Amino acid sequence: MYQKQLLAALAAALISNMAYAEDAPAAAAPAAAHPHWSYDGAEGPDHWSELESKYSTCSTGKNQSPINLTDFIKAKLEPIKFDYKADGNQFINNGHTVQVNFHEGSNMSLHGHQYGLKQFHVHSPSENQINGKTFPMEAHFVHADANGNLAVIAVMFEEGKANPELEKAWKLMPQNADEKVDLKEEVLASAILPKSRDYYRFNGSLTTPPCTEGVTWLVMKHPVTASKEQIEHFQHVMHHHNNRPIQPINARMVLE
Ligand SMILES: [Zn+2]
Repeated sequence: MYQKQLLAALAAALISNMAYAEDAPAAAAPAAAHPHWSYDGAEGPDHWSELESKYSTCSTGKNQSPINLTDFIKAKLEPIKFDYKADGNQFINNGHTVQVNFHEGSNMSLHGHQYGLKQFHVHSPSENQINGKTFPMEAHFVHADANGNLAVIAVMFEEGKANPELEKAWKLMPQNADEKVDLKEEVLASAILPKSRDYYRFNGSLTTPPCTEGVTWLVMKHPVTASKEQIEHFQHVMHHHNNRPIQPINARMVLE
């Protein structure tokens, strides 16, 4: 019993520590008035671990994200079961990315284990690479299970046809850090996923401080499209790239 309580306390502490990380569940994230880290210069990825002691995993971790997905190991990965019902309803710009938050009610399950969708946000260019290829944009659909364990579904964007589901949010994109808007047309996460849900799987971390490990990464094999204008709209609002550099894969395997 004691061990169970300890685990619950640890999970709660982990969630609260993730308050500033955009890969963390959305509901926990307060408005970060002054981001303590950035993607360039003295507060850039090479220095994240020096900015706060709780960011040390960013340099000491051995299972860090993003990675170049390659040397795939054939495994019998079960299909992810999607049960996305609730729609994205709030759109925030936190200075590091733009993020659509979801009400409770959208779930997915992996090998019978259920995770709830919290939010999705984007990076440009992509953080992960597939066989050395960088994509112009990557979306992260962040899920948490009842104990706070995270699973991120990554979707790559290629430049092509405009993405109508993304556009429902994009046309209202908050221009400045710490701005948020309520979406008039709710965004369906399932409509952004590729039709084929084949995926790669590996163990990784948050790609933002505190770079917490133990995150299950599920990267969709097939990209979807966004128009040049949609990709550039995000880039212009951010004013900077927001991709952490590729991290060493070390002893990990990428399953397919
Ligand atoms: Zn992310």
